[in-house]
Formats: sequence, structure tokens, C-alpha cells
Amino acid sequence: MSAAEIGVIGLGTMGAMLALNIADNGFAVAVHNRTAARIPEFMEKAGDLARRITGHAELEDFVKGLASPRNIILMVPAGDAVDAQIEQLRPLLDVDDMVIDAGNANFHDSERRAKASEEAGVPFLGIGVSGGAEGARFGPSIMGGGTPEAWDRVAHILKAISAKYEGQPCATYMGTGGAGHFVKTVHNGIEYADMQLIAEAYGVMRDGMGMDAAACGAVFDRWNKGLLQSYLIEISGKVSAATDPETGNPMLDMILDRAGQKGTGRWTVIESQMLGAPVPVIEAAVVARNMSAQRDLRLAGAKAFGPTGGAMADGTLSLDDLEQALIAGKVLCYAQGFELLIKARAEYDWDLPMAEIAKVWREGCIIRSAMLNDMASALTDAPEQNLALAPYFADVLRKNVAGLRKVAVVAMGAGQPVPALAAALNYFDTLTSARTTANMLQAQRDYFGAHSFERTDKDGSHHGPWLDQHLQG
Ligand code: NDP
Repeated sequence: MSAAEIGVIGLGTMGAMLALNIADNGFAVAVHNRTAARIPEFMEKAGDLARRITGHAELEDFVKGLASPRNIILMVPAGDAVDAQIEQLRPLLDVDDMVIDAGNANFHDSERRAKASEEAGVPFLGIGVSGGAEGARFGPSIMGGGTPEAWDRVAHILKAISAKYEGQPCATYMGTGGAGHFVKTVHNGIEYADMQLIAEAYGVMRDGMGMDAAACGAVFDRWNKGLLQSYLIEISGKVSAATDPETGNPMLDMILDRAGQKGTGRWTVIESQMLGAPVPVIEAAVVARNMSAQRDLRLAGAKAFGPTGGAMADGTLSLDDLEQALIAGKVLCYAQGFELLIKARAEYDWDLPMAEIAKVWREGCIIRSAMLNDMASALTDAPEQNLALAPYFADVLRKNVAGLRKVAVVAMGAGQPVPALAAALNYFDTLTSARTTANMLQAQRDYFGAHSFERTDKDGSHHGPWLDQHLQG
């Protein structure tokens, strides 16, 4: 077989699927894995596609099996494993050979690696890949970061293997350095929030309305035909309908309420705090996962206090209220995510293509949804505008915030936690407040720290009458 056009290191869940996808799109691909035994297993599973794949147990042979200049995708765990793999590879590579980190890197790491590569005069690309195993195999959404030249070199392959929305590839160059991984991080933060909002709606149906899993599933299926149409609503319908083969019970009822996470939601929140770009729905979702993990504490709390709210009376909430709540919550959570991207765009001097980001998320990725197409249109018209204020989405909010308010208030009255829905509502109420209570904060800050404040009636920086009095004792 002639030299491969691209290489993949790491034949785990994602790397194996990505390699098959590349081969399936007609490219010759070389693969390598730390644990060599995995390579023949992978080749066997590749079936017909194996004719375009060469497996190499030795890293040196893998490198030699690639056409120059080489392009090597790393699909290994983010962090130290990436650095270790790059360190092992570099001595074997020529100066124009390119490493492409396709894992879920922290964007600061990608910035550092891009800078080190630039100083060494070697190309580097950091790409965020979304869509899980199925996406990697049949078309993920790909967000690229690095020099435009690095992107252009492999764009034809990345576009070919990516998901397509009405024929348009969901693979886009986002900007220099860590831009691709930053956009992927925010994608994951939004994913946390979208999932949490759906989980809370499920909680209201299960605990407030007394619905069983199958009935919840039927509601998700129905919602998936309307404004909420999305992959996450679709799979929520599917998991709600599934039966546990061992017990015959609804599968959902047999799953422990302790959620895992790998950190990208937390990174989104950390970056939002650093940039002063509030993402309270995403924060609520991360906190909810953290609290879900504290099961022993929750069990102790439940034992100590018993039911903390009144029962949700029959008919207090309708499924239409709940659908409205999810629609409004979703718009507000995406508005926050895009605001964070707008802030990052200015802070890191990235030319983030706002509408293209919405477009690249329309297919292939976990948060794909019909609404993203409307978001792409809104961001095309006004890339720097908060989505909640874009005419189309302002209209959606006007029609649906009442449901969000009703669901949040009723659920909280019944002692049912709805942190993401409540955060969405509070965000909306703050966003639409011409006068907040921050004047009190400013007065307090000036009182104890002489931090000064602005006045409502004239320019400049001022102090209150209290300073002299209390500092003099
Ligand atoms: P897996 O755990 O399935 O596979 C990890 C792969 O990396 C294996 O091939 C493993 O080799 C290799 N590896 C682990 N440690 C090292 C190391 N120190 N040096 C060299 N190779 C190493 O992970 P995934 O495929 O799920 O994830 C890979 C990347 O993709 C991660 O960054 C992840 O966050 C990201 N990602 C994952 C998604 C998913 O849905 N799973 C979705 C999007 C991104 P070995 O066989 O020797 O253990």
C-alpha cells in the first residue's frame, strides 16, 4: 500500500471511529496505538475498510508509513498524554510535519502548544470534535484552531469526514491557537446546560405530575416535532422508552442519580468567570452534576428534613407550560454561551465566525438542533448581539417566558430542584431589568473600601457621605 495521507494515534472509542470514517471517505490512513494488541483487533473490525488502513505497532514505522509532509491526528486523553505523545513523536518528524490534537483539550493547553510549535517552526492544529462515537464514525462536527495554513492543509479531509447540513460540511476554522478547542469547550458547556434543562423537565413530569418513564418518553417524542427538535430531546425520548433487560423495569428507573463529568462544563464556567461573561444556566448545570455526585450527603439531607415543599397539585402545570419553559430556557442558555464566545472573541483577538459556529453545530454534534439554524440566521444579521435580543428569539421569549416562570415557581414551591430553569429565569429577569440593586453593592463597597461609585445625576467618580464619618471613628 502506498504512503498514507493521514495518521491517527489512539484507537480508543473516538480514534478508532475517526480512522474508519477517514478510510470510508476514501483516504489512506495509518494507525498506531500505545497498546499494540488493540491494532489487530481494530483492523479485523474494520472489515472492507482495512484495505485503506495500515496498522503499525511501532511509532517509527507509523511515521515512515505517512506521506510527507505528514499529518498526524492524536485522539488520546486530553492533558499530559497529549504532551507525552507529542514529545515522543517530534524527534521522529520533519519540520513541516503536523500534529493535530483532536481530543478535548483545555484551550489554554492548545494555546501553549500552538505557541511552542510556532517557536519551533513546526505546524500544529487543535481541533474540537463533537458527536461521540457515532459522530466520529459517520460525521462529527469539527472546530479548528491554529494557523490558517495548518487548517487549509487538512481542511479537505476534515470537511469530507464531517457531518453535513444540507450538503454543507460541519467543519470550520475558528481562529488561531486554541480557538477551536475554546469553541468546543463552550459547545460542551451548552451541552451540560441543555441536558440539565431536559432532566429538570423530566423531574417535573416524574415527581410533580406522577408520570412514568414511558409517558415522559412520549412527551419528549412529541416535543421533538416542534421548536425543541434536537438530538438531545430525541435521545431523551429513546432512553425514557427503554426497558432494562435484566429486571423488565424502565431502564431510567434502574440508573443511579449520580452524574459523571470530564471537566469541559467546569472549564466553560471558569472561562466565563475570567471573561466576565455570565453563563448561569451552564453554572447551574455543573453544580447540579456536582451535587448529584454527593449522594451520601443528599441521602442524609433527605432523611434529616423529609419532603421540603408542598405537593404539586394536579393540573397546576400543563405539559404545554413545561414545553414553553424548555424553549425559553434553551434560548437563554444558548444566548449565554454565544455571549461568552463574543467576549472571548474580543479578549483573545480571535476572529471567531459567530454565525459559522451556530452552523457548524447544526449537524454531527451532541447539541445539534433545529433552533441552531435560526441562531445562525440571527448571528448572520448581528454577530455581536445577545441572541435573546435578536428579533426572532425575542419573539420566542415573549411567547414562552410565562411558561418558564410558572414552571420554576410551581416546582420550587413543591420543593423540587430546578436550578437550571430557575437560573434561566433569573438571567432573563436581570437581563430585562433597567434598574438592578447594584447601587446597594456600590454603596457597600464604597463604605468599607472607598471604592467609589458613579452617580445617576452626573459624571465622574464619587464617594458617599459615610466615608469621613466611619473612618474617623
Ligand atoms: P478512550 O479512553 O476510549 O481511548 C483513549 C486512547 O488513548 C486509547 O487508544 C489509549 O491507548 C490512548 N492513550 C491513553 N493514554 C495514553 C498515553 N498516555 N499515551 C498515548 N496514548 C494514550 O478515549 P476516547 O476515545 O473516548 O477519547 C479520546 C479523546 O477524545 C479525549 O480527549 C476525549 O475527551 C475526546 N472526546 C471523546 C468523546 C467521547 O464521546 N468519548 C467525544 C469527543 C471528544 P491504550 O489502548 O494504550 O490505552
